[in-house]
Amino acid sequence: MMDYEKQSQRLAEIAAKLLEEETVEAVLGLRDNPEAGWPTPYCARNPQDAKRLVWNDACYTNLAFYLTEMREKTAIAAKPCDVRSIINLISENQLDRDNFIIIGIECEGMRKDGKLAPGCDACPSSTPSFWDIAIGADGADTWCDLPMAQTGENVTQWAKTSTVEERFERFLKEIDKCILCYACRQACQGCYCVSCFMDRKATPWEQIDADTGSKIAFHLNRAMHLAGRCTDCGACEKVCSAGVNLKYIYKGLSEFVEETYGFKAGVDPEATPVMNRYEADDPQVAFLGGDCIVGI
Ligand code: SF4
Ligand code: SF4
Ligand code: SF4
Repeated sequence: MMDYEKQSQRLAEIAAKLLEEETVEAVLGLRDNPEAGWPTPYCARNPQDAKRLVWNDACYTNLAFYLTEMREKTAIAAKPCDVRSIINLISENQLDRDNFIIIGIECEGMRKDGKLAPGCDACPSSTPSFWDIAIGADGADTWCDLPMAQTGENVTQWAKTSTVEERFERFLKEIDKCILCYACRQACQGCYCVSCFMDRKATPWEQIDADTGSKIAFHLNRAMHLAGRCTDCGACEKVCSAGVNLKYIYKGLSEFVEETYGFKAGVDPEATPVMNRYEADDPQVAFLGGDCIVGI
């Protein structure tokens, strides 16, 4: 059982100590934000500010990308999916492990609109695989190892038992809701390009028409760019105000890469990213082709 009050208290204590002793210059976490309606990213830079850091079941923002923007030695409050994302960013040379400390925080699932948030219904573990300082579910310095829900859809199973037409129909039905706000891109640890292919389509002050062609281009390109890099954090769907079920695409894609190339992002910081390596006997299958698993 989670004790968010104790977790928040211990996070504030640890952050104040790290700042006081000058082990780090900043602690990256989340603070209450009544205007937004959920905690938003916050950087404590002195021991007094540390008490503003909070931890509760609405802390679903993935903070890994924010770490890439830090220029000073930083400690990050990170739940297991943030840590998977940090591992992915280390393997892509976006983060230097010597420059940050991980305050790992146990998590049994965030909540959104009164139910388990997207991604949390299939999260593999309540504990991070990689940390420097631990904050367990009860606020102590050991893990409780809580059982996870595992109620998420088995996307691969669905894809294998549906026709190409059914898969395409589902994809179109989902993207029909999309308003091309790009919040999913902004929330994603893997979308760190300085200039996104979608932004090249129009000048910054020009509205992009949310027509079906643009939506297909955005979602298919983003999915391809995330192949072998998605860490199943669900942040993209958690922030989507239009209710697009993005997780089924990315979960299906992760499972496809794992099944085909034996690679899972966010597991080994030393691993060469799957898209950076080539073997002559790599299977010649296509995510979008006839033999594909997801086949959107
Ligand atoms: S996916 Fe959900 S349950 Fe898993 S670590 Fe992230 S927020 Fe927690
Ligand atoms: S957050 Fe939702 S509405 Fe916005 S671009 Fe992504 S899928 Fe579309
Ligand atoms: S695509 Fe979505 S689930 Fe995958 S890493 Fe990005 S935000 Fe997380």
